[in-house]
Amino acid sequence: PATTIDRALQHVYKEVLRRNPGEHEFHQAVEEVLGSLGPVVKRHPHYLAERVIERLCEPERQIIFRVPWTDDAGQVQINRGFRVEYSSVLGPYKGGLRFHPSVLLGTVKFLGFEQIFKNALTGLPIGGGKGGSDFDPKGRSDAEVMRFCQSFMTELYRHLGEYTDVPAGDIGVGGREIGYLFGQYKRITNRYEAGVITGKGLAWGGSRARTEATGYGTVYFANEMARHVGRSLDGQRVVVSGSGNVAIYAIEKVTEFGGTVVAASDSSGYVVDEAGIDLDLLKDLKEVRRERISRYAEEKGGDVRFVEGGNIWDVPCEVALPCATQNELDEEAATTLVRNGTHIVAEGANMPCTPGAVRVFQEADVLFGPGKAVNAGGVATSALEMQQNASRDSWSFEHTDERLGEIMRNIHESVVTTAEDYGRPGDYVFGANAAGFTAVADAMLAMGV
Ligand code: GLU
Repeated sequence: PATTIDRALQHVYKEVLRRNPGEHEFHQAVEEVLGSLGPVVKRHPHYLAERVIERLCEPERQIIFRVPWTDDAGQVQINRGFRVEYSSVLGPYKGGLRFHPSVLLGTVKFLGFEQIFKNALTGLPIGGGKGGSDFDPKGRSDAEVMRFCQSFMTELYRHLGEYTDVPAGDIGVGGREIGYLFGQYKRITNRYEAGVITGKGLAWGGSRARTEATGYGTVYFANEMARHVGRSLDGQRVVVSGSGNVAIYAIEKVTEFGGTVVAASDSSGYVVDEAGIDLDLLKDLKEVRRERISRYAEEKGGDVRFVEGGNIWDVPCEVALPCATQNELDEEAATTLVRNGTHIVAEGANMPCTPGAVRVFQEADVLFGPGKAVNAGGVATSALEMQQNASRDSWSFEHTDERLGEIMRNIHESVVTTAEDYGRPGDYVFGANAAGFTAVADAMLAMGV
């Protein structure tokens, strides 16, 4: 086991490795949290005695199912579906669905594990879960995506419910997929149970600002980090990786705060636009036309560069917002960023920085915000959507966005004060893990074994 984990907790990590062979991303997520909990169990030995951490490392329920569907050529296709219902101590299982060819059980477990603590940090009544499939929506027609989603829900619906388990989107699952999934749930159950899934369209129970929430929340958090050390995002040169839902709305909000986003990427490469990314063009390419990012350079012209493959973190910036996917920013990229003078890194994606990268940032005194705190605005706004559904209400954009801002400021405050309380000022990784864990652990203890 890694040396970063306190001796008192090494046996927990060993057991996780033994029980979950080959699930590297899950091991990585567990190691990251356990690495923070040494001082917490020293102060609260009853967490150890009651085996709270071992309990949290084992999902309450893991569901794996077959998803058969027929493609446009009439060929039968088989995918695998997952839902990991991790923790229900703070509320119904809550977390997104990821549709991507790389999805394995270990992927869903790492995401579900992170989700427990992230959701706890929001202070809202939501437990942790995650799901998905190895289905690749890329290149599939709307009709194929619909048939896949219907088959997926035909199996999953029996495990869901507004008081039980409430999915949402993640990579590969946006408004279109949520619509097909909700439609099938409604058809099968004959219930208009809006609170069973979030990220719905505005006309059918969705919340204003949900689409924007993860990206906006990421920038609200980064702004709090900057303010905390007497700086601001105004006039800063920013790089945002990715060009999905999180990245697009992070770019929008950085620009509103007076920063300039000079680069964006997708799995094919990245573009550098010194004038600042043209958001209308990026949105049209990615949200409407579902095109590759190279089109951005072709259509914008001028000095815009497209770099095929390559590493977006080679682009110098003062603020780095990794918003693409897990382990996209490694130790080498972190070293480049530090050399180029980056002083804030905030994770819009889930676990985008490798453990080596995080170490480089912390040793160089770069302010580093971990995803489970930074990107919690998405799921927090999902909880606000559930609240609107439960009261059969619909809030204004302004009101919802204001609640989001307030939630992000509260998360920042609780992370910072927890870190200070343990004598580790400025350590957002420790603060987020300790604050999230404590909230879940206390509720677990209250409810008994
Ligand atoms: N997939 C998002 C996340 O990683 C949102 C989940 C949700 O809204 O339930 O937190």
